[in-house]
Amino acid sequence: MFSVEEGIKHLQISGAKVTSQRIAIMKSLEGRTDHPSAEQLFIELKPEHPTLSIATVYSTTQLMAQASMIRILTIDKNKVNFDPNIQPHGHFMCRKCKRILDLPMDVNAIVRYGRNFDIASVDAVEVFIYGLCAECCDL
Ligand SMILES: [Zn+2]
Ligand SMILES: [Zn+2]
Repeated sequence: MFSVEEGIKHLQISGAKVTSQRIAIMKSLEGRTDHPSAEQLFIELKPEHPTLSIATVYSTTQLMAQASMIRILTIDKNKVNFDPNIQPHGHFMCRKCKRILDLPMDVNAIVRYGRNFDIASVDAVEVFIYGLCAECCDL
């Protein structure tokens, strides 16, 4: 997980301008585990930053992903979601309530298993699982 101070440094190194809006976007993603979408961040930040545009949310998160501060998830076909946890882990999306849950994974076990299929090393893991969460199943 990144800190906002590190984030500012990352953006400066990559030559990007560090604006108050970009800092606000970094702050709202810092330490977060609910995988918010671009629209969700925009709605949350708009009241305090009236001139914020959705394009700024997209461009800032793109820069953050390039600096390995966040992962951009494409688990939902209709939007992108952001994850400040860049350690390899899988994701589950509930088809009903649309929430995205983390699914811990043993990457070493995957690599060991992958050797049976000619895989020598793994540097990125993307696992998307769909179904119903425990809360939605109880209804
Ligand atoms: Zn659910
Ligand atoms: Zn996650």
